[in-house]
Amino acid sequence: MPHDHHDHPHSLLPSDPALRVKALETLLVRKGLVDPAAVEAILDTYETKVGPHLGARVVARAWAEPAFRTRLLADANAAMAELGISGRQGEHVVVVENTPRTHNMVVCTLCSCYPWPLLGIPPAWYKSDAYRSRAVREPRRVLTDFGVTLPEGQSVRVWDSSAEVRYLVLPMRPEDTGGWSAERLQALVTRDSMIGTGLPRPAA
Ligand code: FE
Repeated sequence: MPHDHHDHPHSLLPSDPALRVKALETLLVRKGLVDPAAVEAILDTYETKVGPHLGARVVARAWAEPAFRTRLLADANAAMAELGISGRQGEHVVVVENTPRTHNMVVCTLCSCYPWPLLGIPPAWYKSDAYRSRAVREPRRVLTDFGVTLPEGQSVRVWDSSAEVRYLVLPMRPEDTGGWSAERLQALVTRDSMIGTGLPRPAA
């Protein structure tokens, strides 16, 4: 099965999933099946601890340290583990590197597969029908909608995520950042630049 959650695609979700989730949670807590503190801990993890700053750390390290970049492209999970990054929805990460010739962009055409341990919870637009269908059909126009205009000679390659493989884009290092530390570079890495719908912030 290529997608682990295609048994409940977004189009079939009830109109107010938040309400249904709350109802379920209340029921499970009342029956003693889940510990409210455990639920809070999971929510806190994804709201405050896991997020795009972790992906940005990985990208900045790859920019600053060529040997780490090589290891990251060869085996992303092993390289992530060096920085203490792992977790569910991030078991099989593949890092795709942007070059002057190729810009990479990530989508999940079936649902919303996404490398949670690196980027946190996906943004709403990533899960939208429009992005999921248009990213493959007309990636350049999607990029324009995101305010990204690529040079003529740079082609766009679209990667379809699944439960087996989740992709992270390694953007090109911004110009005029020679000698910058990984810590300083990290501030230039945006979430969207790691999905491929954006570019890193310029150095200036
Ligand atoms: Fe998916």
